[in-house]
Amino acid sequence: MAAPPHVVVIGAGLSGLAAAARLRGRGCAVTVVEAADTPGGLVRTETLDGHRFDTGATILTMPELIVDPLTELGLTPAEVLDRLALRPVDPGYVMNYADGSALALPHHAADIPDAVAEAFGPRAARGTDDLLRWLRQVYDAEFDVFIDRNYGGLRDLTGPETRRAATELVKLRTLGGLTGAVARFVDDERVQRAFTFQALYAGVPPHRARAIYAIIADMDIGRGLSAPVGGMGRVGAVMADALVDADTAIAYGSRATAIVHDGGRATGVVVDGDTLPADAVIATAERDTVAALVGRRPRRKLRYSPSALVVHGLLPVGVTDDWSAGHHTLDFGAAWSQTFAEITGRPGAPMSDGSFLLTRSAVSDPDTFVADGLESVSVLAPTPNLDSAPLDWDAIAEPYAAEVLATLAARGYRGLDRLQVLRIDHPKSWQRSGLPAGTPFSAAHTATQTGPLRTRNTWPGLDNLFLAGSATVPGVGIPPVLVSGGLAADRVTARLAEALATAGSLPRSAR
Ligand SMILES: Cc1cc2nc3c(=O)[nH]c(=O)nc-3n(C[C@H](O)[C@H](O)[C@H](O)COP(=O)(O)OP(=O)(O)OC[C@H]3O[C@@H](n4cnc5c(N)ncnc54)[C@H](O)[C@@H]3O)c2cc1C
Repeated sequence: MAAPPHVVVIGAGLSGLAAAARLRGRGCAVTVVEAADTPGGLVRTETLDGHRFDTGATILTMPELIVDPLTELGLTPAEVLDRLALRPVDPGYVMNYADGSALALPHHAADIPDAVAEAFGPRAARGTDDLLRWLRQVYDAEFDVFIDRNYGGLRDLTGPETRRAATELVKLRTLGGLTGAVARFVDDERVQRAFTFQALYAGVPPHRARAIYAIIADMDIGRGLSAPVGGMGRVGAVMADALVDADTAIAYGSRATAIVHDGGRATGVVVDGDTLPADAVIATAERDTVAALVGRRPRRKLRYSPSALVVHGLLPVGVTDDWSAGHHTLDFGAAWSQTFAEITGRPGAPMSDGSFLLTRSAVSDPDTFVADGLESVSVLAPTPNLDSAPLDWDAIAEPYAAEVLATLAARGYRGLDRLQVLRIDHPKSWQRSGLPAGTPFSAAHTATQTGPLRTRNTWPGLDNLFLAGSATVPGVGIPPVLVSGGLAADRVTARLAEALATAGSLPRSAR
């Protein structure tokens, strides 16, 4: 029997790990090459000065998207969930407003209307039930057809399934503006913010986003947030361990420097001067990085999402006790559309009346995030990216971070201005780690960079090179990149169907 086809996956972020798991499960031999020393990419838990911090993504939803690829390796959902050891984050978010009011959003969506009524009164809560129902309808119409799907060509875009879903989305009035759509259900501006700020996850200001972006609020608030015991880095670790158990090589500290190709096919990946032969390649780096690996210059320039400055530091246990804060706290300034205009505009500027995300992972997991009487605390301030505001962050990050901490201390987070700062990540440092425009949030989901118009997961001129990750479809964030790994794996499986049949490879889940 022939040897199984060999797939090289560049990058052990969540998209690469998801793709690798699915392909290994379907009988391919898989090698993952990763420049860093650990799996997970931008979803990581790091040790700074002996203390643990979630230094990348902190908001985790839809764990079933982690479970699915690992079941292809033969694990049961219960085994995956057991390894992830997820705890519900409840409240999912605490939202503090400039008028002094606060909303703690419960983990279970069914409890949200009561929480809104308690925070802002029954009048403000009116319509929240209907809003949550509408969000779920938007998700149901959109997810399978427009998000978790590979497009072939025009026929896919005009087929009956697409037409049905598009008609449903029109009926749900998702083609108008997001804020207006949410305002049809709830008229309290604070509640509107709670259900529209998520557009920023897609790099788009809420007041400019189309209502189809309401799906993000359902994938976020609507489904409940959770956190793995041990920190966010456990997600990549659990996925990588399952791959290694299934005989997949993951080469850490190994940077791919070229994708070798020949007559329309990728034939290998150069790592440390050696060429790893490949029957197919999945690259999870940013589009321009992949273009450099292939030796081709991309045709169109992309518009990137805003970036962020993130401060990680320590506070003595007890300092946070009198804060109105949970695991995830959003502190909104009084300004709203102006804030988004500043961070997404051209030219962009730092927020003048900022809104911030405070992360206290210790709320869910004190054993990991409290040590020696000190609690790990992180603050994220959205910023413009380097394309729209080429600021000298190496010089201004420290004073800007001090200003953010002082602002928040004055807004009620007493003692935060005395945070013992251990690290500040900022647009220049993201740029130094290879991220274009100095943003870890990739290409923005503008109208011309979304859905079928986003950088495709196929590569022009090379029929066995595929993309996964935030640069390609469906987009940025943990749920989309896990989906992208599956979409790229489906492309590879279709491309290598004959080789898989010749090798008699059986899906692992069927063994
Ligand atoms: C501060 C911050 C907060 C965030 N918050 C959230 C959040 O709360 N919720 C959420 O859903 N998302 C959040 N995100 C976004 C989310 O983390 C990313 O969208 C997602 O993790 C990207 O996954 P990926 O697999 O596409 O890419 P990555 O995680 O970037 O993985 C790509 C991997 O490829 C490797 N690589 C690149 N080039 C090469 C090469 N040439 N050779 C070998 N290896 C290479 C990299 O080292 C990296 O490990 C956040 C991100 C950051 C930075």
